[in-house]
Amino acid sequence: MTSFLKAFMLQIITKVVEIQRLIHQERNSGAKIGFVPTMGALHAGHLSLIERSRTENQITVCSIFVNPTQFNDKADFSRYPRTIESDSAILQSSGCQFLFLPDIEEIYPTESSKTIDFTVGTLGDVLEGVHRPGHFNGMATVVKRLFDIVKPDKAYFGNKDFQQFLIVKKLVLDCHIPVEVIPCPTLREADGLAMSSRNALLSAEQRLEATFLYQMLQKAKDLILTQSHKRQDIINIILRDFLANGNFTVDYFDICSVETLQPLEDFANKEIVICVAAYLGKIRLIDNILLNTAE
Ligand code: AMP
Repeated sequence: MTSFLKAFMLQIITKVVEIQRLIHQERNSGAKIGFVPTMGALHAGHLSLIERSRTENQITVCSIFVNPTQFNDKADFSRYPRTIESDSAILQSSGCQFLFLPDIEEIYPTESSKTIDFTVGTLGDVLEGVHRPGHFNGMATVVKRLFDIVKPDKAYFGNKDFQQFLIVKKLVLDCHIPVEVIPCPTLREADGLAMSSRNALLSAEQRLEATFLYQMLQKAKDLILTQSHKRQDIINIILRDFLANGNFTVDYFDICSVETLQPLEDFANKEIVICVAAYLGKIRLIDNILLNTAE
């Protein structure tokens, strides 16, 4: 096959040694490597990361791996959507060159390889960290392992999982990993619902109700911009609205610093992230919006 044709074809690789060999070859011929790690059930949000990578690198590698060590809830792991056939078709037309699709033993050959010695620190003690114990250590473990395998020049992460992005940035800094971690904006459905693989698990009725999460983030943003409410007042107003709505069980709703994720009391001239996690039936949804009050 000519290298011209090859550049437009998706190659699916399941073995670490094989993806390492192919990427090594590409790097030796001068290509920059962009990497988009995912858990599959691909949607337009994932594709926006791949598109960004394609504009900045000659080679884009996407991984699909539903990582067991980051699921603190076994039912959530089993229920997580797995749609590899349609994912491959989507990736084929996205222009991504390599899909790395390892099985669990390939990533974790031994029991002792399932955790890394990385202290997530205070960034992991708040928000998702409170409600999903062990999640970030599992996430950091797999991301470090994937970075070690792929050795990308740049890696793309969505702001949809803003805490994850901050923790990956810390991982890279603390472990001296030579990769540039690039944050990408959250893609939303027309009604504002953040695109997510978990949305596929919602019933038609729940799908309509789910937009309420985004409406609450917007309402909190508007209240911050009026400059007449304190943090706790805003949270109370929002939680009252959730209670009146009746469809959600809220894990957290908070207004935090984009650097530390600590709660913010003073909103003037700040970069703020408003974060929410809530159950709609059995499905746990998270979302956030970023706001810069200095602009
Ligand atoms: P996941 O497959 O859910 O682990 O997500 C893989 C990557 O896609 C992560 O960096 C996510 O933050 C990102 N992502 C997920 N949903 C969206 C979205 N709606 N917009 C942009 N990026 C997203």
